[in-house]
Amino acid sequence: MPKKHHFETDAIRMQTPTTSEREHSAPLYMTSSFTFESAEHARAMFANEIEGNVYSRYSNPNTDEFIAKICSMEGAESGVATASGMAGVFGCLAGLLNQGDHIIASRSLFGSSHQILTQILPRWGITSTYADTIKTDGWESLIQPNTRMLFLETPSNPGLDLIDLEWAGNFAKDHNLILVVDNCFATPYLQRPIDFGADLVQHSATKFIDGQGRAIGGVIVGSEKHMEKIRFFARHTGPALSPFNAWLFSKSIETLAVRMERHCDNAEELAKFLGNHPSVQFVKYPFHRDHPQFELAKKQMKRGGGVVCFEIKGGIDQATKFIDNIRLLSRSANLGDTRTIVTHPATTTHSKLSEEERNSVGITPGLIRIAVGLEHHEDIIADVEQALS
Ligand SMILES: *Cc1c(COP(=O)(O)O)cnc(C)c1O
Repeated sequence: MPKKHHFETDAIRMQTPTTSEREHSAPLYMTSSFTFESAEHARAMFANEIEGNVYSRYSNPNTDEFIAKICSMEGAESGVATASGMAGVFGCLAGLLNQGDHIIASRSLFGSSHQILTQILPRWGITSTYADTIKTDGWESLIQPNTRMLFLETPSNPGLDLIDLEWAGNFAKDHNLILVVDNCFATPYLQRPIDFGADLVQHSATKFIDGQGRAIGGVIVGSEKHMEKIRFFARHTGPALSPFNAWLFSKSIETLAVRMERHCDNAEELAKFLGNHPSVQFVKYPFHRDHPQFELAKKQMKRGGGVVCFEIKGGIDQATKFIDNIRLLSRSANLGDTRTIVTHPATTTHSKLSEEERNSVGITPGLIRIAVGLEHHEDIIADVEQALS
């Protein structure tokens, strides 16, 4: 595949080779297996002596195209596509860690990542400790002799807390830790963790990468040294992404840059509006002046992203009223869609956490998350305004 033009150009131009039909847009390879020319060809394929597709659990042209684009955008050597973002998170942990290993993770994590770390991995003797997302000076003391990985999410879901990636890259290097960053909220268009020393980058493609709320999927990219092990794990345990979803995602990536610009434009307008509204306790958006890490956001992100959070005055009662009063926007639990989505994290996406766990990551009863879509910003703001009053 051709390599290294500008971000947008590779996102659009990297394609599987054209077939004899000379099609312009990459076709969908909806096939579970591929054929061999001869017994010798089959033997050589299975012996990894020649490259090619054998079975879509291992590889598929659509999946490969999708992975190649994400690698190009993130600056990664190689990758594995997975059936969901969570299959990616799990594949990354289970593919690399051994019994007795220890993980340090940022406290503000996606709900299911938290469940894997606290409920599932301990059954196999893999433990983890949470580090304060914002105050990194205490992280040193969390290192154990068996600590192998640093697992981070920045900006975090839903609190939009940031971690200094340059600092984290150095910390991981000093302590010989594998640095994994869940880059779902920023996308490679706004933030490239590998540039700061991350070994692996994880995405829920379900969100901004699909961008249209149609399909579930994920991808992990990074250094081949680690990807080799994750690929082995994925090949034999089977979290493969469907070729159809890979085809959708790969087409979606062609518009990622223009979509993210509009998500950011709209989110900035909404954050500005919320910041001045009397019913709003505070607004949180990485590129809004009131965000406690505004300077850091500007250092490591191109723009603030498509998610805005705010604390409504009056707690759970007012939050519930606000959600019920929404007319145009969607009440849903997804994000990264063309359609603006309003979520109440405390009673939905993060309801499985204890109240104490929620409080520790700023998920208060009055916190509202708005995944700002691509509608006209005046219509988004008008609906939020009428729901607030
Ligand atoms: C949604 C999400 C995931 C999980 O992805 P799925 O595709 O839903 O499995 C992981 N991390 C973050 C930050 C997310 O927002």
